[in-house]
Amino acid sequence: MKLSSRILAIKPSPTLAITVKANALQAEGRDIIGFGAGEPDFDTPIHIKRAAIKAIEDGFTKYTPVDGIIELKDAIISKLRVDNQLKYYRSEVVVSCGAKHTLYNLCQVLFEEGDEVIIPSPYWVSYLDMVVLSGAKPVILKTTELQGFKLQPQQLEAAITKNTRAVIINSPSNPAGVVYTASELEALAEVILRKGILVISDDVYEKIIYDNNLFKNIASLSEELKKMTVVVNGVSKAYSMTGWRIGYAAGPEEIITAVTKLQSQNTSNPTSIAQKAAVEALNGPQNNVTEMVEEFRKRRDAIVEKLNDIPGITCMLPQGAFYVFPDVSALFGRSYQAIVISNSSDFTAFLLDEANVAVVPGVDFGHDHHIRLSYATSLKNIEEGLKRVRNAVMKLS
Ligand SMILES: *Cc1c(COP(=O)(O)O)cnc(C)c1O
Repeated sequence: MKLSSRILAIKPSPTLAITVKANALQAEGRDIIGFGAGEPDFDTPIHIKRAAIKAIEDGFTKYTPVDGIIELKDAIISKLRVDNQLKYYRSEVVVSCGAKHTLYNLCQVLFEEGDEVIIPSPYWVSYLDMVVLSGAKPVILKTTELQGFKLQPQQLEAAITKNTRAVIINSPSNPAGVVYTASELEALAEVILRKGILVISDDVYEKIIYDNNLFKNIASLSEELKKMTVVVNGVSKAYSMTGWRIGYAAGPEEIITAVTKLQSQNTSNPTSIAQKAAVEALNGPQNNVTEMVEEFRKRRDAIVEKLNDIPGITCMLPQGAFYVFPDVSALFGRSYQAIVISNSSDFTAFLLDEANVAVVPGVDFGHDHHIRLSYATSLKNIEEGLKRVRNAVMKLS
């Protein structure tokens, strides 16, 4: 079968693949502890579920406007005003089938052959493939752990060419849990404005932030920046609604109109009942978010401590999201029986085989010295899982 060169140029999402593999082994009877999950392990809050049930009972089960119902757009507009000090009109907001869909659509309407899009690494796996699918060239800028995995203004400036269209900023980030401060964003903004490139700001982990870290969106720094920025967010991570598929973008009307046109020819509107649930998520009580973040914080502290306790593994304390991204490169060159560990994929395979623990290799995020563990799992699993990792590492010589 001949498939398009477009589809042959990309790979399936590796993080979803890890979960599938861990589930398959589990089904075969292996007792696997999974740290691959890219979603909260909490249930969707009951008041949100009730809103969807009511929507079904009310017969709210037909097509809606392609770009989302007014009620949801207004909930998003009010959220952006209250939380982020950003003012948008309805014509500047589009609702999509998850933030991933939003990001994909943005790439399709903004980029093409000859364009370059800057992606700081470690990056969320999908950015790369979305940019490739648009025909543009992803330009990966590697950040180091010493820089706190943060893109530096000089680094950004040096990478910008006449073909550069945009930079993607993700804070708090997946996989490293990095949160950019307002002054760090200001320093990047200076370069962005001077060079006249767009910013895609992926804010899906906005609410999952710890300690004294504060979320700031680059668009809120100035009116000029706002004109160059598309804000992407959704309800998946903050409200444990990954299955509902509601995400959104807010930005310049011309871009939003283009995304709406694209959606009108592929998905049409996001699911009507999920839109009603998202209205409740945004407008309803927020205490579930606070409780979830408090639970994540305990798990973060536990997993970071246990990882740093393992000789050969070092782990930074993440400031947001629900992942840790430890450096395991000190273990490279060591072996167990016939297995030699020389990169993050080898180590991941070793952990699955010898420890019955599923993690994601850092190479999928552009950093082969690291692995990613999600702590969207119970403290009990974290305790048992990390004990297994420790025992497996101790077998290496
Ligand atoms: C999970 C995730 C998304 C996508 O979320 P949706 O479920 O599609 O709304 C986008 N960006 C990052 C960095 C993510 O981790």
